[in-house]
Amino acid sequence: MNRPVRRVAVLGGGISGLSAAHRLVSTPGMEVVVIEASNRLGGKIKTSDFDGRQVDEAADAFLTRGGQVEGLCRELGLDSQLVTPATNRAWLWKGDRLHSFPLGLALGVPLRPLSLLGSPLVSPRGALRAAADLVMPRTTGSADVSVARLVRRRLGVEVSSTLVEPLIGGINAGRAECLGVSATVPRFATASERSSSLIRGLRSEIATPSTGGRAAEGPPPPFLGLRRGMEQMVHALESTLREHGTDIRLGWRVAAAARAGGGWILSRQAGDRTLEGGLRDGIQVIGHHPTDTILADGIVVALPAWEAAKVLGGVSPLGSSLLGAIPYASVAMLTMSYDSSMSYDSSSSGQPAPVGSGFLVPAGEHRSVTACSWTSSKWPHLGRPGELLVRASVGRWRDGAALMLSDDALVKAVHRELQVVMGLAEPPTASRVTRWDRAFPQFGVDHGDLVARITRAIGATGPVELAGAAYGGVGIPSCVQSGFGAADRLLARL
Ligand SMILES: Cc1cc2nc3c(=O)[nH]c(=O)nc-3n(C[C@H](O)[C@H](O)[C@H](O)COP(=O)(O)OP(=O)(O)OC[C@H]3O[C@@H](n4cnc5c(N)ncnc54)[C@H](O)[C@@H]3O)c2cc1C
Repeated sequence: MNRPVRRVAVLGGGISGLSAAHRLVSTPGMEVVVIEASNRLGGKIKTSDFDGRQVDEAADAFLTRGGQVEGLCRELGLDSQLVTPATNRAWLWKGDRLHSFPLGLALGVPLRPLSLLGSPLVSPRGALRAAADLVMPRTTGSADVSVARLVRRRLGVEVSSTLVEPLIGGINAGRAECLGVSATVPRFATASERSSSLIRGLRSEIATPSTGGRAAEGPPPPFLGLRRGMEQMVHALESTLREHGTDIRLGWRVAAAARAGGGWILSRQAGDRTLEGGLRDGIQVIGHHPTDTILADGIVVALPAWEAAKVLGGVSPLGSSLLGAIPYASVAMLTMSYDSSMSYDSSSSGQPAPVGSGFLVPAGEHRSVTACSWTSSKWPHLGRPGELLVRASVGRWRDGAALMLSDDALVKAVHRELQVVMGLAEPPTASRVTRWDRAFPQFGVDHGDLVARITRAIGATGPVELAGAAYGGVGIPSCVQSGFGAADRLLARL
């Protein structure tokens, strides 16, 4: 006997929601509706024209570890668009100069700590202290701790604040002091279980990078991007979903999810009529779906946690308050183009030429910029002769002062900082500021327990699954994985 058609609503058209929908549509007898509040799909994956070429406004690459995103891109027919960064040589801001990041680091942890001897970034005493990790007894206690605390205990304060903080803090727009090890850097947790020494544990987990033959460059970059920007992935997912007859509702902000029979009724936020018919700016717009409710047998909630908290507040006050407890950091991404022949003068500034992927700025340097990509050298297909294209990130957890500036003031402030370390004499010839409000969930100590409590509370209300950056990781691979996982679990429940 044929099973009746089941209808699933995916709330949120970011990469997590689209991945869930992609998985769902391949199941026979499944009707899928994707509900997105804004007038575009992709959420925090966004690519747009900057001075005549497609440049990402947020994510510009994904980690290839696990292979899932690369596999998805290939499945979506994007093989020819996959592109590897030309370099992974990174620099670090210290004392108003850029220093080359030492080779052989695993998320900031030196796998050969004595190779730090002679580095301008870590004192000889700091390098020896890091090496002590190899002989120190196992740190007792199985409780989750902050990343900074673990690394400080094992390798000392210098490695923690100079090498680990900018990498882990930079990836998460957070502070290693507040981010929990288990959820933020599970590899550190596994390594610590595997060996009494963090370094040895990491060494046995990863093949130690070989520097032979690539000494200046380090191992091949573990990242891939897309030639015309990460949004290509969103467009490809959208096409596949439409081919499968998915109902995609843009401009439909879910206000609340309530139980209806064995399923769900979703209601739309009052006054949210952005895509309905009528005259707008003198143009007759054909209306889409002017309904105020959507019925579904099951739902995947792929929204930022603070938004999921609102939508699910009526069915699970406990789940909602736990969701609302996940903190978020806001950031801005500045894209700036410089005339390198006019404004970049490495010989007079004595600063290193921008050879490499860019630089990170430790929180202790008290700068607005947290990281800067030398986009034209990282992605040569985006470069033009005589031009230096950069993308600079601003804002981290509990440090949003620079984000209060107007766009113009922010560009000037960031330019002044780039001037210090890159010897840029002239202001940028073109610039763009993209603001990402409450964009990076912060995984504190015991985040895993918090997520388990949320999942229990929300899961008890009916056929609903959560997906998104707030639960298992902010990177695109984790988001894709969370979407696939949520879809599979929901299918098992329906
Ligand atoms: C500046 C920046 C740089 C980044 N760089 C990288 C990188 O290089 N590599 C990497 O792997 N990751 C990067 N990330 C992280 C990664 O891009 C994000 O974690 C990921 O895209 C989040 O996807 P998501 O689907 O979980 O959430 P979102 O993209 O936030 O999607 C949620 C969607 O839900 C919609 N929505 C919200 N409320 C409602 C509602 N009530 N009803 C209906 N729809 C609603 C939103 O409009 C949005 O489209 C970066 C992020 C930022 C901000």
